[in-house]
Amino acid sequence: MALLHNLGFPRIGAKRELKFTQEAFWKGQVSAQELLAAAREIRATNWTLQQPLDLVPVGDFSLYDQVLDMSFTLGNLPTRVSGLEGSELDNYFRVARGRSANDSGCNCVHAGEMTKWFDTNYHYIVPEVTADTGFSLNPTRLLEQLAEAKAAGVNAKPVIIGPVTYLWLGKEKDDSNRLQLLDRLLPVYTELLQKLAEAGAEWVQVDEPALVTELDSDWQAAFAKAYQALGGRGPRLLLATYFGTLQENLKLVAELPVAGLHIDAVRGRAEVDRVVDALPADSVLSIGAIDGRNIWKTDLTATLDWLEPIAARLGERLWLAPACSLLHVPVDLDSEQKLDAEIVSWLAFAKQKLAELAVLGRAINEGRDAVKQELADNLAAVDSRRQSSRVHNPTVKEAVKNITAELGKRRSGYAERAATQARHLKLPRFPTTTIGSFPQTTDIRKTRLAFKKREISAADYEAKMKAEIERAVREQEALGLDVLVHGEAERNDMVEYFGEQFDGYAFSQFGWVQSYGSRCVKPPILFGDISRPSAMTVEWIKYAQSLTDKPMKGMLTGPVTILNWSFVRDDQPRSESCLQLALAVRREVLDLEAAGVDIIQIDEAALREGLPLRKSEWQGYLDWAVESFRIAANGVGDETQIHTHMCYSEFNDIIEAIAHMDADVITIETSRSDMELLDVFEQFEYPNEIGPGVYDIHSPNIPDQAHIIELMKKAAERIPAERLWVNPDCGLKTRQWEEVIPALQSMVAAAGKLREKIAS
Ligand code: GLN
Ligand code: ZN
Repeated sequence: MALLHNLGFPRIGAKRELKFTQEAFWKGQVSAQELLAAAREIRATNWTLQQPLDLVPVGDFSLYDQVLDMSFTLGNLPTRVSGLEGSELDNYFRVARGRSANDSGCNCVHAGEMTKWFDTNYHYIVPEVTADTGFSLNPTRLLEQLAEAKAAGVNAKPVIIGPVTYLWLGKEKDDSNRLQLLDRLLPVYTELLQKLAEAGAEWVQVDEPALVTELDSDWQAAFAKAYQALGGRGPRLLLATYFGTLQENLKLVAELPVAGLHIDAVRGRAEVDRVVDALPADSVLSIGAIDGRNIWKTDLTATLDWLEPIAARLGERLWLAPACSLLHVPVDLDSEQKLDAEIVSWLAFAKQKLAELAVLGRAINEGRDAVKQELADNLAAVDSRRQSSRVHNPTVKEAVKNITAELGKRRSGYAERAATQARHLKLPRFPTTTIGSFPQTTDIRKTRLAFKKREISAADYEAKMKAEIERAVREQEALGLDVLVHGEAERNDMVEYFGEQFDGYAFSQFGWVQSYGSRCVKPPILFGDISRPSAMTVEWIKYAQSLTDKPMKGMLTGPVTILNWSFVRDDQPRSESCLQLALAVRREVLDLEAAGVDIIQIDEAALREGLPLRKSEWQGYLDWAVESFRIAANGVGDETQIHTHMCYSEFNDIIEAIAHMDADVITIETSRSDMELLDVFEQFEYPNEIGPGVYDIHSPNIPDQAHIIELMKKAAERIPAERLWVNPDCGLKTRQWEEVIPALQSMVAAAGKLREKIAS
């Protein structure tokens, strides 16, 4: 009998109940008791949904983040919150967000750093360590939830982050080596496992996803040491790996003294046989056969075709589960009221994935006949998607096939283009510009909502947006900026706005996925071949240009960013979908150029985050990602200036790819790093123009002129001044006009001073 279990369930609630309660708590509108009660209710709902499983995760729920939970369990809190008043919950939110609901005035501490959880869009709070970090067990959360789960009548399996991955995720706040802390950490884990066993946990799921990354010998040795210490006694351990393959770590993993191993058989399908061969004869193998990172129905018949022979080999040792925690998919497809019924028939959210797991389990345990109808229905749905003319557009496929290297090339090299553009655009030295958006005021959001609800007409909506554009243009002219933008008032979101206008995209109503804390995103669903039925931005930009003699930048989101922030197809490589997006964006670029737009910015905010977990796979990704950008951007004539923008500045290991994009101007986020991050551009002798951000748009503070000049001087030590632009770090949509105006005044004045210095 194969045993069925789950690694984790979304904690936000089907209607984002957790988010709303968290935020109300932070505003002081609900009490801690009410928050905890809401959390209990979500856990109960989740357990009821998972009740049919043989083992149900406990401890996967979190009030903010599971890594932060682990830090509390291990007693690893930053010293800056020790000794502060209030409850543990107060401290928890202080580390998470910089303040608790009960902190008033400036009784704040700085929040823990947040970074991406492997290659997902979930962000965790980075554990902080120093040479002096000590650990002490606080098992209350896990023990309470274990008791709660038992009372709810489920067979509970506590989930914790393993000691090595915990350290791997952490960051030293001094020059110590965090791996040195392992010896101090292991006794606390031993004690924790003991407590869980005493509380009746037969199995504990220990997440060690660091095992799918490239590990040096010290980290590999740490795994061996950790599980020698933890494996033998206490509850049985299921070592959970996911998001990739084990590869060179497989031998190490197979030798660890744990009772079971979970692997991601969606991303690591090709490795499953090797894992079965390598495991000891009494070890459980949990096969993650359902995609926990995407929203498509599993092809259950095809899965059974490869799974059955493996099941025959493993017998009682086989467990089945989703590939990873379902945290990364929305909760319940049944909530969708407006999504097209045919598309709905192709999808599975977390709840539906559990149903798929149940069918797989019965097919394995009782034979396919036991679930004949379910398998037939599944096959019909999967086939309908496979054959749908809404998915497949021969013209688009043909266009991708016909892509040649020529398509990605500018007519002339940068130097020649730059000379042509200088003659054409006549910009001053240190040209000033912004990244695209201006404040998305409540008024703008209200208007958009009213339009969506059909309370106002399309004509009224357009007039209102045009008024906002006009306001942005007038403000920029008054400020004396050199290259203007239209302000993006008409855009709800930089990906959704384009997705809505492409063929091949669908939008859910409740397809929310947690990004961090109470913040959720609703990725659009790229389901079919992508085309652009008509121009998307041209009328808005033309209108904006008609209001001014200054150059108006056309503003687009690039193909890689659109791809990386969507749920994408699993029936073709990501690269193929990206090239389709590239061709669609290219048409928009050419339409803008034909409409007389001289400067076009193509944002690639998410290019870096698409990098695979293993460095050995980076180049493959960068090749098609950069090629996609080039295809989108490079069809224009020499006099058209292409800008790109990226909201970060760590380019050290990808600078060659960035240079290969060949944008005439790249604007990046640098204000907080004191321009040191430009070193890599200097060393690489990056040839094109750069706008290093001089205004931290994440902060309400107004940057002062002297500071901006200082930053630009530092930039000019690294990049020749004639190739520097002056701009903020990123778009201004989250700021208020009252903040933006004085900040940009400083910026423009600083550019003026810099010009004077050069002239004299
Ligand atoms: N053009 C976008 C804006 O200004 C860019 C946003 C981003 O890079 N995240 O808002
Ligand atoms: Zn940005």
